[in-house]
Amino acid sequence: MTQAPVRTETDILAIAREQVLERGVGLDKEQTVQVLTLADDRLEELLALAHDVRMKWCGPEVEVEGIISLKTGGCPEDCHFCSQSGLFQSPVRAAWLDIPSLVEAAKQTAKTGATEFCIVAAVRGPDERLMAQVAAGVEAIRNEVDIQVACSLGMLTQEQVDQLAAMGVHRYNHNLETAKSHFPNVVTTHSWEERWDTLRMVREAGMEVCCGGILGMGETVEQRAEFALQLAELEPDEVPLNFLNPRPGTPFGDLEVLPAAEALKAVAAFRLALPRTMLRFAGGREITLGDLGAKQGILGGINAVIVGNYLTTLGRPAEADLDLLGELKMPIKALNETL
Ligand code: SF4
Repeated sequence: MTQAPVRTETDILAIAREQVLERGVGLDKEQTVQVLTLADDRLEELLALAHDVRMKWCGPEVEVEGIISLKTGGCPEDCHFCSQSGLFQSPVRAAWLDIPSLVEAAKQTAKTGATEFCIVAAVRGPDERLMAQVAAGVEAIRNEVDIQVACSLGMLTQEQVDQLAAMGVHRYNHNLETAKSHFPNVVTTHSWEERWDTLRMVREAGMEVCCGGILGMGETVEQRAEFALQLAELEPDEVPLNFLNPRPGTPFGDLEVLPAAEALKAVAAFRLALPRTMLRFAGGREITLGDLGAKQGILGGINAVIVGNYLTTLGRPAEADLDLLGELKMPIKALNETL
């Protein structure tokens, strides 16, 4: 009697269920490509698996964060998606926020239940004036508001990394933006490696690392998978996922918005490649996914959201996101758990 051949599983979702959900081992690049190219009629199944992975390896809580722009516009870099670059004809003009307004924004953010407040500046890297402003702002917030402070100030020197750590900055955001192989098509005024160096120094100084990027910038599906795996290698604490919202006047102003199904597959694929990482919905999701997208994303692997306005475009009102979390019975992560 001949024996029945051993059946080796070839369906990527069955493989992911065993590898990622059961064992917590993220997908490799080939596997991520397979997920990104799944047929649309398997999207629901994929999102359900990504949700199970998130619940098992991250839990039900959702981290809420607010962001504020300390210095807007007039940046000397040429990131082709960015309306804050001073090199393009985009309508964002250079402006600074004062410290009392910064503290007030932190207070309003804390009221929403957010545990993280991120101070952002549109710069290549901070100069002395910006570092002094940030130091004053962080101190004022820490004195008056019960919230963790994060910063996103571009590329840093070792000295600046040490200064931010000494100020008590909890997390530093610096996005790699896209796959290493696609980066030169997106930015020409600095390199992917320069960004990576800042992230390494931030990690070594003991701050949490927040690093993500923008999908839908003309990258191939393989490059999207490459990016997910490069992030997995970095092991950031948080990955903010943005979808390109083409801004008039920027070199990417005429790119097509990523179709919703493709964007949702990407969210799920990043969750399966990064099973334990906080995955945050950041900018561009309204235009890509519409109102329904928040729900599908949060049920498809996302476990952190930004409330209120984004840096240069309007997001949904904070209440809409917070109501949604209530409706989905997903608790907002409390501050004492982040300390
Ligand atoms: S993404 Fe940052 S570094 Fe690039 S142009 Fe915009 S503000 Fe400047």
